Amino acid sequence: SEKHVLMDEIAIRRALTRIAHEILEKNKGIDDCVLVGIRTRGVYLAQRLAEKITEIEGTPIPWGELDVTAYRDDRGSAAEARESGKVLLMNPSDVSVHDKKVILFDDVLYTGRTIRAAMDALMDCGRPQMIQLAVLADRGHRELPIRPDYIGKNIPTSKSEGIVVSLQETDGKDEVTINQN
Ligand code: 5GP
Ligand code: MG
Repeated sequence: SEKHVLMDEIAIRRALTRIAHEILEKNKGIDDCVLVGIRTRGVYLAQRLAEKITEIEGTPIPWGELDVTAYRDDRGSAAEARESGKVLLMNPSDVSVHDKKVILFDDVLYTGRTIRAAMDALMDCGRPQMIQLAVLADRGHRELPIRPDYIGKNIPTSKSEGIVVSLQETDGKDEVTINQN
């Protein structure tokens, strides 16, 4: 299989900086905004974006991590997961998504099913005023009416291709590659 580098460390950093500015512009600042990353890599992206926004605005923005595994399919485990209190973890921990503008962040957007599950999970954790979506890479092939508000890079793929997202925090380097099988 052949590997093509589509984003290197600098490109990822620039995309996150641009998205930070786009979020500030669209929301006219960060009043009532919270960032929520989808586990695993979306969390690190949300955390980095929170740091950038704090740097630019001089005001910290709350961020959190969402585990949507229990919401991915209808195995009836969502209620159980919710009661465990581990679906959504916020920093600071007393911040709620209720009445907030929630900006979801994931590494790759594909069919949209993960985002649908994430919206379900968020609605169960409180009632956001609004939900927006940021992704590092949009590879197309949507099966639901979901469209990101902020996109690092559009990467059209065939269904047999896979995008590999490597991040410092999990993989020791920042890189987005496409693997052709
Ligand atoms: P969807 O639910 O939209 O079909 O797929 C998105 C989810 O699956 C994301 O959480 C993402 O991490 C993962 N995913 C789907 N396709 C890819 C891909 O090509 N590369 C990577 N790294 N993740 C993918
Ligand atoms: Mg994922």
